[in-house]
Amino acid sequence: MWARNEAFRAFYMLKEFWDEKKVDLKNSTTAHLDVVIDSKQSNEAMDIDTDLLVSTLQKEPFALLNVHNDTRKYALFTLIGSAQAPLYGGKIFFVDEVLAKRFSEFLQGSVQFVPLDASLSLPSSTLFFEDREQRYLTHKSGSFTDIYIPFTASLYVKVTFDRGIFAFMKEDLYKSMAYFISILAIILALFYVLLDRLVLSTIRHISQQIQTLKSSPNNMSLRITCKSNDELGTMVLWINAMLGEIETYQKKELGAKEALLEEERNFLQTIIDSWQHALLVIDHEKILKVNDAFKKIFGSAQERLSTQQEALFAPLLHAQNHETIKISLLERPFFFIINTKPLFQNKRLITLTDVSSFNEQLQTLQKKAMLDPLTSLLNRSGILTLLEEKFHSHVQGLLLFDLDHFKRVNDTYGHPIGDEVLKAFSNVLTLNARGTDVIGRIGGEEFVMILSCETLEQLQHSAEKFRTKVEALSLQGTQGESFSLTVSIGGVFNKMGATFESLYEKADQNLYEAKRKGRNQSVVS
Ligand code: GH3
Ligand code: MG
Ligand code: MG
Repeated sequence: MWARNEAFRAFYMLKEFWDEKKVDLKNSTTAHLDVVIDSKQSNEAMDIDTDLLVSTLQKEPFALLNVHNDTRKYALFTLIGSAQAPLYGGKIFFVDEVLAKRFSEFLQGSVQFVPLDASLSLPSSTLFFEDREQRYLTHKSGSFTDIYIPFTASLYVKVTFDRGIFAFMKEDLYKSMAYFISILAIILALFYVLLDRLVLSTIRHISQQIQTLKSSPNNMSLRITCKSNDELGTMVLWINAMLGEIETYQKKELGAKEALLEEERNFLQTIIDSWQHALLVIDHEKILKVNDAFKKIFGSAQERLSTQQEALFAPLLHAQNHETIKISLLERPFFFIINTKPLFQNKRLITLTDVSSFNEQLQTLQKKAMLDPLTSLLNRSGILTLLEEKFHSHVQGLLLFDLDHFKRVNDTYGHPIGDEVLKAFSNVLTLNARGTDVIGRIGGEEFVMILSCETLEQLQHSAEKFRTKVEALSLQGTQGESFSLTVSIGGVFNKMGATFESLYEKADQNLYEAKRKGRNQSVVS
């Protein structure tokens, strides 16, 4: 069975030969066998089996006969006509061995010459074979396909192909392919192993080291190691050189940045240090930064008390804005007004305005405002303040003192002597009072004493004690002359305790009574 291309090649060879010999088919339709010996050897003896030739040509339009002579020429006979009504009009050509063989094979393959039949209506196609365009008809049945190719004006060449042959070819093809693929796979596997040994393992090693480099960006002195001396080794050398360059550059940059930062830090520190108020920056409970003013106040103490820092600065760290806080340092109280400002990341700037001296002055002033400057006893407002603080306005015993005819002392000895008399009188009161008694000067020559006593008699006794002490007092005038003085006393006792105002009113009435009775007396009720 022929391969399709082989069939077409033989077909065209034959057709070319045919066209070359210019066989005039129309004029060859005579009814006798006209053997033409178209060769130089035409006069050679021909041993042709005429019967065989005729019987062959009755079936086939061509016949190839072996010419039996020593030169082994081949002869090609043609018969033009129909097989049913044979008309023997043919030619004989001597052909060379190659063409004879081709033609023989061509006819032995599934190739037939069939008369052109106008009624043959089959699907028509055009094929291109070696740049030739050829129209042909096809007919399929089972695995066989017949192709009809016009050969001459009255003949087709019918070529039969059996597609069954392709099954064997396919099998062979698959076997070849499997063999080829196996060989290819083995080659690829070997190639991969070799590639892995020589290149990939080194690349993996390098890539692991690059990962280490990436995960420790702060360690700029890391380098990649590679033992191979090939292109990869060269590449690693270059990478290391590049890392070295980067390290040098980064160190230089970092140095410059560090210097700049240091300069800025110093600049800021100078600013905060020059601030007169104590400053500190805190992060939650932790002190991050303080200025000179802070160190001046807490400096030595801060170091000494570092273990107790928390307790010492606790009021400072938790103070509200504008709050005044008290911190005791080495037994001395400090007062600060707090100003707190939030900074970035939960940090806070706290400014301490030291108002300690201010506070001291205020307290002195407050104290002064409560004291009588002449006698240093409490004045009226001092008494009232103390009453509120100490006795909650409730008192049991109260004595009011009024010097008798004091005006005369002033008139006789002058005002300064009058002042001395007032001081002497206040001394009598202070020296003879108990520690718990409260004494005050509430008017020109009027004094008050608040006492704690159990009974009215006790109070009466005290009043008399003071009156006699004053009476016994020896005073000196401007010329050294001595004189004495008396005092009238009005007193009130209330076992349950009563308000100062209510007792004062009653004591004043009693004092008036004592004056009225002739002075130098005590009236206590
Ligand atoms: P009586 O017995 O009625 O109380 O007579 P008196 O003279 O003591 O009372 P009066 O109220 O008439 O006079 C009180 C005098 O005390 C008048 C005033 O000049 C004098 N005086 C008041 N304060 C002071 C002071 O601080 N120093 C001096 N030296 N005299 C004062
Ligand atoms: Mg008076
Ligand atoms: Mg008086």
